[in-house]
Amino acid sequence: METRELICIQCPMGCPLTVTIDGDDIRVTGNTCPRGAVYGKKEVTDPTRTVTSTVCVQGGEIPRVSVKTSADIPKGRIREVMAAIRALRVNAPVRIGQVLLPDVAGTGVDIIATKTVGEKNV
Ligand code: SF4
Repeated sequence: METRELICIQCPMGCPLTVTIDGDDIRVTGNTCPRGAVYGKKEVTDPTRTVTSTVCVQGGEIPRVSVKTSADIPKGRIREVMAAIRALRVNAPVRIGQVLLPDVAGTGVDIIATKTVGEKNV
């Protein structure tokens, strides 16, 4: 039997969770709501995260656009995804929701803009 102590990151309350793993039997205590139990189980079996960052915009009214992954990615792939985001350059204009990088690092998840950036006036 293994026990892991976690902090739930599903809301600002940050409940301290204790996850007990006994083969296929996974129990979560310390959660204030059901979301904490779901998070605790997932964190010890298949941890994932949404990644947020910014990307350089060439010819934009501002130099960078905020972006995020279109879905959660495996936690172990965050470095590869961040490297791909850092290497990415896009041209203005950029529309909110636009896919800037499909299938980032072969994860099957896209990088999408979370802001609109117009072209720089010259
Ligand atoms: S268990 Fe529920 S209340 Fe506690 S941090 Fe997680 S989501 Fe928030």
